Amino acid sequence: MNASNTAVVVGAGFGGLALAIRLQAQGVQTTLLEKRDKPGGRAYVYEDEGFVFDAGPTVITDPSALEELFTAAGRRMADYVELLPVSPFYRLCWEDGSHFDYANDQEALDRQIHARNPADVAGYRRFLAYSQAVFAEGYLKLGAVPFLSFRDMISAGPQLARLQAWRSVYGIVSRFIQDEQLRQAFSFHSLLVGGNPFATSSIYTLIHALERQWGVWFPRGGTGALVRGLVELFEDLGGRIELNAPVAAIETQGTRVTGVRLDDGRLFKADAVASNADVVHTYAHLLGAHPRGAAQADALRKKRFSNSLFVLYFGLDHHHDQLRHHTVCFGPRYRELITEIFGGNALADDFSLYLHAPCITDASLAPPGCGSHYVLAPVPHLGNAPIDWTVEGPRYRDRIFDYLEQRYMPGLRSQLVTSRIFTPLDFRDELNAHLGSAFSLEPILTQSAWFRPHNRDADLSNLYLVGAGTHPGAGVPGVIGSAKATAGLMLEAQA
Ligand SMILES: Cc1cc2nc3c(=O)[nH]c(=O)nc-3n(C[C@H](O)[C@H](O)[C@H](O)COP(=O)(O)OP(=O)(O)OC[C@H]3O[C@@H](n4cnc5c(N)ncnc54)[C@H](O)[C@@H]3O)c2cc1C
Repeated sequence: MNASNTAVVVGAGFGGLALAIRLQAQGVQTTLLEKRDKPGGRAYVYEDEGFVFDAGPTVITDPSALEELFTAAGRRMADYVELLPVSPFYRLCWEDGSHFDYANDQEALDRQIHARNPADVAGYRRFLAYSQAVFAEGYLKLGAVPFLSFRDMISAGPQLARLQAWRSVYGIVSRFIQDEQLRQAFSFHSLLVGGNPFATSSIYTLIHALERQWGVWFPRGGTGALVRGLVELFEDLGGRIELNAPVAAIETQGTRVTGVRLDDGRLFKADAVASNADVVHTYAHLLGAHPRGAAQADALRKKRFSNSLFVLYFGLDHHHDQLRHHTVCFGPRYRELITEIFGGNALADDFSLYLHAPCITDASLAPPGCGSHYVLAPVPHLGNAPIDWTVEGPRYRDRIFDYLEQRYMPGLRSQLVTSRIFTPLDFRDELNAHLGSAFSLEPILTQSAWFRPHNRDADLSNLYLVGAGTHPGAGVPGVIGSAKATAGLMLEAQA
């Protein structure tokens, strides 16, 4: 594409925003169309009674990818958003009352590992070296490279084989580490991007090295402040964003797309269209009238989709300073629970939770002396477990509140000022997510890289994808990488 070209990006998630910025920065007049009233997608922000709740991503890793985005646009990230370091990265807690502070401090890690199982100190070092090798191959080299042809996949084959990519995350961790709780501590990360540690390729251990390399960060003002910074950057570059603008269809002529039509009938013509919306929604609904749309949607529906999430946002008139910013609350079962979350047809009786307490890092997210929180539980998607969340949601909320009050946040119920829930039904209806999946296609080896929907459609030559459903996949660094890969293809198309 060249400077006189125009592009439309459907959806203002991190992937859509990052792509729109890259295009606009290269002089492509870009319009970003978002169905909801705020940008951010999964990184939406709720504001209730003075409490600010980041809806989704809270663990911000790889700040260099964000920095690079601003630099590519000729700006400085520091002029738009400030990232604060988070330490420890996470506190991991078990029901026996023990915990592990996972931090970027080798000595502190060694001490904690030694206290559990001395042999695992050396095992952890070997695991770290392994994950660093995967990180170098899988992330630094291939994270933002579009896999358009099977040749690309074959050329990555020797590295994948050498790194034993056919093994699962948990399988690899278990080769190095003996203690079961430490195995959990170093294998749960793939859940952050919708990957089952017992099924997802060991390639995803790279998240561990990525966190050790660049740390865990939190934007001042919350993840929403990062979204606002990206929108501001896009608009400063001359880009146009429309909110409350649900796209009803991508218009086509033969094997080319010509623009999009909104629900209200308005047409936006463009030389190229990129969809940041869910991949099944894109093909089944936005391209439903084109044979390519129907065929690709049928193929995608046969794939495996990631789990969903139940998210509970709550504000308290008390600041729980005994918490850490990020806490993982492991329940009584690990493998069995995860198996039920990814394959079961009902809600398990137990749960494992992730608890977000952002006021530990930034008190401005709640009124003085108060605390904003969210807690999430991974749950099956609607295709596996067609639960009526309008009934189950409030019950599940109460069970989680009881659990947190008993074990982590004494007095929670009496301190409660406000709460709201987001269930698999909301992922489906608010975000158009197929089966209410929180992370799109499950990141197993046979649905990764070339096997994932490509960043450019194979038949419609000026239709592109960006975001969690395309290469490399979910997570903020993933979708920022997908934007780089997709922008590269779009810019070279008509250079
Ligand atoms: C609760 C939760 C916690 C998470 N925590 C983390 C974390 O800590 N760290 C991390 O790295 N990742 C995390 N993730 C994953 C990460 O948030 C996502 O993978 C990533 O944000 C997805 O970005 P995306 O670009 O694919 O777009 P999305 O965020 O999925 O946005 C797509 C956008 O498209 C819009 N849209 C859909 N259909 C249409 C249409 N027809 N017309 C117009 N617009 C449309 C949607 O409204 C939405 O705004 C989390 C996810 C969730 C749900």
